[in-house]
Amino acid sequence: MKYTVKCWECGKEIENHFLDACPSCNGSLTIDMELSHLQGTSPMDLRSRPIGVWRYAHFMPIRSEPISLQEGGTPLYDCEKLAEEYGLRKLHVKFEGANPTGSFKDRGMTVGVTRAVELGCKVVGCASTGNTSASLAAYAAKAGLKCVVLLPSGKVASGKLAQAMFFGAKVVTVDGNFDDALRVVKELAHSGDLYMLNSVNPFRPEGQKSLAFEILDQLDFKMPDRIVYPVGNAANIWAAYKALKEWQQLGWIDELPMLTGVQAGGSAPLVMSFAHGQDDFIPVKDPETIATAIRIGNPASGKKALRAVYDTGGVMTAVSDREIIDAQFLLGRMEGVGVEPASAASIAGVKKLMDEGKIGRKEKVVCVCTGHVLKDPDTVIANCGKVLKASATAEDVRRVISS
Ligand SMILES: *Cc1c(COP(=O)(O)O)cnc(C)c1O
Ligand SMILES: [Zn+2]
Repeated sequence: MKYTVKCWECGKEIENHFLDACPSCNGSLTIDMELSHLQGTSPMDLRSRPIGVWRYAHFMPIRSEPISLQEGGTPLYDCEKLAEEYGLRKLHVKFEGANPTGSFKDRGMTVGVTRAVELGCKVVGCASTGNTSASLAAYAAKAGLKCVVLLPSGKVASGKLAQAMFFGAKVVTVDGNFDDALRVVKELAHSGDLYMLNSVNPFRPEGQKSLAFEILDQLDFKMPDRIVYPVGNAANIWAAYKALKEWQQLGWIDELPMLTGVQAGGSAPLVMSFAHGQDDFIPVKDPETIATAIRIGNPASGKKALRAVYDTGGVMTAVSDREIIDAQFLLGRMEGVGVEPASAASIAGVKKLMDEGKIGRKEKVVCVCTGHVLKDPDTVIANCGKVLKASATAEDVRRVISS
């Protein structure tokens, strides 16, 4: 596949494969895919390949055999009961917990790690609130690369930590939050200690584009009115925008769905700037939320995300931890779909925007639920009632469950 790496801000072409920002303006990087050979084709033509990231290989900046764990191809659930509860015409949930390591990060990581191998790198690394490290550790194992992950101290969900350790990464918790960890890993990348696979690496969002492609594919290319993303570092919602623009450019789709971003109240720098119509943002110093995957004060792709939202007529909103947990449990108990707190922010955001009249009842909405409930079992247990206790007799169990 032909492509060029460019600065998203000033358009400068980037030749050095190891930069994570523009050398002239420090802008973030992006990849221009050369798609002219697809003119005159249709997305239906891709259906001979199995659903998943590599069905969309034409849109991936990779020329070699992918390092793949068969990521993507996740269910798109039609949540009729939840839609009725909220009074919404249609509510689909894209369940990214069904990915190999249990989050959408695998979509970007199959591309990112394949890129690392193409470049001949031996050590890969990232800063992570948890899921990026779990994913990178697995793909590094598959590729036979060494892996270093930097986590903020004390705030990583146990399932994610277990995965990173299990897959053999060197796991380091740094004394600080995610934003601090990202700063340090960038330094290590600049000094050549590792190849950085955070989402500022422009190859990651390219893989994440497949999430949006798949949603449209699974809806038989009938456009939903809105796609709702939880937003942390903000690469995922940007990737959706990039994906949709590429298909629009090919004439594969006409209109774009309203891309809608939801942040947690305690870490919502982009919601603040959206409210003022600004295209840049002021970082939040000490981000705080139970939804640790979006506990990010200085979103690396924040400006890109704002562009995605403005350009598609979407909105950004913030939800409280209480609203997040309520939505997480409602989805689980009404639909049997288990997602981690950050993922439930998208559901909570739909409820909030409906209550405010910003989402109409006639809309067809897709919520992206980014990670699996088992990523963060402690939060779940802390918010459930007690486990019942009984002696080992049917009689006593009957007594306990009926009380
Ligand atoms: C990474 C992550 C997010 C946030 O995605 P961004 O691209 O950083 O906005 C949301 N939910 C989960 C479960 C994640 O792992
Ligand atoms: Zn630049």
